[in-house]
Amino acid sequence: MAETTLTDGSPVSEDHRNLMSNGQQKCYVVLSDDERSKGFVRPVRRSYVHETCGVTTTMGAALAETFARDPYFYAGTFCSGCGSHFPVGEDGQFVWDGTKEKVGT
Ligand SMILES: [Zn+2]
Repeated sequence: MAETTLTDGSPVSEDHRNLMSNGQQKCYVVLSDDERSKGFVRPVRRSYVHETCGVTTTMGAALAETFARDPYFYAGTFCSGCGSHFPVGEDGQFVWDGTKEKVGT
């Protein structure tokens, strides 16, 4: 099991999934700095497009590096256009900005 933290490096709390007024979670789980420093299997990409609405969302470095270290780590991600979370993966709704490559593959 890879070690995880919240995006700010703090321990994973029980209430991190609580939603804020913009629809985002209070905090997101990421792979720890140590785990991410072991190397990336995909490029580090900060922005993805929700194919359903066409809006691009940009995420922080810790989240982007977690996707790059383990593309299958997340089941879903946030769309800033819709203000909600949707599935990623082969049958998911997101592609990396400027590509046809699905997020989470
Ligand atoms: Zn959307």
